[in-house]
Amino acid sequence: MTAASAHSTPPGSPTLRLRVSRVAEARIRGGHPWVFSDSVRETNRPGRDGELAVLYDRNDRFLAVGLFDSTSPIQVRILHRGKPCTIDESWFGRNLARALQARASLFDSGTNGYRLINGESDGWPALVVDRYNTTLVLKLYSVAWLQRLEMLQSLLVRGPAPERIVLRLSRNIQDAAGRDFGRADGDLLFGPPVDAPPVFLENGIRFEVDVVRGQKTGFFLDQRENRERIAKVASGRRVLNAFSFSGGFSLYAARGGARVVTDLDISSHALEQARCNWGLNAGEPWASACAYEAVQADAFEWLGGRSDRQFDLIVLDPPSLARRESERAGAIAAYQRLATDAIRWLADGGILFAASCSAHVTAEEFFEAVRKAARAGDRRATELETTGHALDHPATFPEAQYLKGIYLRF
Ligand code: SAH
Repeated sequence: MTAASAHSTPPGSPTLRLRVSRVAEARIRGGHPWVFSDSVRETNRPGRDGELAVLYDRNDRFLAVGLFDSTSPIQVRILHRGKPCTIDESWFGRNLARALQARASLFDSGTNGYRLINGESDGWPALVVDRYNTTLVLKLYSVAWLQRLEMLQSLLVRGPAPERIVLRLSRNIQDAAGRDFGRADGDLLFGPPVDAPPVFLENGIRFEVDVVRGQKTGFFLDQRENRERIAKVASGRRVLNAFSFSGGFSLYAARGGARVVTDLDISSHALEQARCNWGLNAGEPWASACAYEAVQADAFEWLGGRSDRQFDLIVLDPPSLARRESERAGAIAAYQRLATDAIRWLADGGILFAASCSAHVTAEEFFEAVRKAARAGDRRATELETTGHALDHPATFPEAQYLKGIYLRF
């Protein structure tokens, strides 16, 4: 069997071999991409971060090959399972081609911002690539990729052929990246410096994106399909966009014919970006036809206060409320409270769209929390739709299914 890396294993070292528990074996066979450190039963030698680890079953048969990472509870992230194969640059090239192919016919020329690689679910564990027009943002969530940056850069330059590539690093790998590889979050990997935020199109609407410092890779591309739904129901409505960030839902609502849109966010930087995005679309008749206001406040407090005005459409898209499993119950209660508070501000016939991006809260738990809030009042609510992941954000295993949304009319 061959499983050699041109990048990580010093010549002469034997391949790193791991034997895993029976339970882990079954999970891997079922397609799960993670091997936790406590399910590793035997190794032939200590592993080095980033090298390839070959996993075997109890009968010494090949199970899978993945990236070793001693700094994470997820010790191996699987790249390939099934039959043995060689993981080298051309393998990664084919893996990239598959991800690009999957997006090839998803968007027309009105959309040049979307996700090119969505981590594990695209066969690239702990790695995301977002496209914003001619800029690519490569975001890494595991130290295992750091030693492969040159390869990643050259594959991306040859594949999607961007003008520029920006590197983003999750907080937990920033120290190692600086210490061992001299890399920092926001580094330019390729192309001209980012003198001004790149501008991209989503369904014909212009957005600018802070690819160097912004949350995630700078924009919440995962909500595109919900933004389209909001545009479809916005006509003539007074819209509140709570946790508005850079105003994505608001611009769609305006294009859908909303009368007035209110952005509500705690961050002045987010509201400033929203203002820039309105500016970028100022030439559009729909933008000038819609009144706009921005409120800088804590949305939990603001919504919990006296509801002295009414909205016909409310978007509730808070940041993750459960960053770890222990916060799950609190998050579910917080979602229910937020929805309860928001409903008080809705006029008759008003629509609530509530979203959750907490991976630790399941779709059913979240939907039930919002439904409970809807049932608790004395108004009748009709559930219109529940939504999940967009096609450029595939989610092939439970932990990847973080995004859920529910639409209710009152
Ligand atoms: N709906 C947005 C993404 C929301 S991200 C979109 O589609 O683009 C979460 C936003 O919530 C961030 O902009 C953050 O600044 C804001 N936020 C976090 N805590 C908040 C709070 N307590 N009150 C109001 N906004 C908050």
